[in-house]
Amino acid sequence: MHETTLINLYSDTVTKPTAQMRRAIAEAEVGDDMVGEDPTVNRLEAMVAELLGKEAAVFACSATQANQMAVRTHCLAGDELLSAAQSHVACSEAGGPAALSGVTTRAIPDCNGCLDVDVLEGQILPDDQHLCRTRLLVLENTTNAGGGRVYPLEQIQRVGRWGRENGLKVHLDGARLFNAVVASGHSAAEICQEVDTVTVCFSKGLGCPMGAALVGSKEAIAKARRARKLLGGALRQAGIVAAAAVHALEHHVARLAVDHENAGAFARAIVDIDGISVDPGEIETNIVFFGVDPALGTAKQLATRAYREGLKIGALRSQAIRICTHLDADLDDVLEAAKIIRRCVREGFAETVVSAAGPYESSAGTVDQNARA
Ligand SMILES: *Cc1c(COP(=O)(O)O)cnc(C)c1O
Repeated sequence: MHETTLINLYSDTVTKPTAQMRRAIAEAEVGDDMVGEDPTVNRLEAMVAELLGKEAAVFACSATQANQMAVRTHCLAGDELLSAAQSHVACSEAGGPAALSGVTTRAIPDCNGCLDVDVLEGQILPDDQHLCRTRLLVLENTTNAGGGRVYPLEQIQRVGRWGRENGLKVHLDGARLFNAVVASGHSAAEICQEVDTVTVCFSKGLGCPMGAALVGSKEAIAKARRARKLLGGALRQAGIVAAAAVHALEHHVARLAVDHENAGAFARAIVDIDGISVDPGEIETNIVFFGVDPALGTAKQLATRAYREGLKIGALRSQAIRICTHLDADLDDVLEAAKIIRRCVREGFAETVVSAAGPYESSAGTVDQNARA
């Protein structure tokens, strides 16, 4: 269904490599990365470390893997990490901290996924045999469940500094760090100045088929390499995929501004639809959440109807939809998407039947998964 006409704003992970990226992949120089002999991986790791102002980087299969490598690098079993309630690390990585590292997660009240010192004060548990050891603070920039928000530079530096001054390690889940760079105009190094490790993802807005990196001190990254091996993420001729990431860092960063403009245009194009709630002024990057008045129906019903009309969107909460803009959707696509939503609302979707498995039908059956990516 919809193989050629579907407008897919479900996530920015849906992009396919461009012809130029495929050429970079085809022409990549490779070697055995497990022993440090893949020149393309080495080049990518050096590039990312330099961009973020850190000593070292290690390539990972996915941002989830990089985050879990960070948790394992900083924590021992029985430790706890602090993060925003809806953080990807705590909520969308299959229980990774607990399952892989024996680490518990504690939610801190956040504002659109961002944390600040006032809510963190008093949250570090005292040194007491009864208690977990509070060890790691995890920040997310941009925030995913928070709606693509960008930390103000002073805030992320203040929070990071607070964590480190109080004996915590600080990890930044920067799956969409480059969206924050482009939206704020601050360099990646400035944004990452007060944190110990950073995850960046290449398969989100940067448009790669796969890959991520964990960045930090030489010491942290050496430990993370061991964690990567344990998690099955140490690869051989990984230059094949690292080449895509090198290409993306060279050609796909500045263009993220277009995705941000398109997200704003989408929000402005649906703002006057009765029963749909969105504040275009709050859209900072490539993610738009909008509310669906229960009088119209549920988010899943709207997603189901929209899918039948050729638009795939994420029903992330019972009455909220998320869309992401990306390099495979242009301004015409997002304006067409807004029209489809307007039509669904006008024609009504309260009677739409959502199958038990969810809103999207595919050749593989009906699937509703991965909406959190
Ligand atoms: C998507 C995402 C990840 C994980 O990326 P995968 O490629 O799905 O492993 C981690 N953190 C945030 C904030 C994300 O949005």
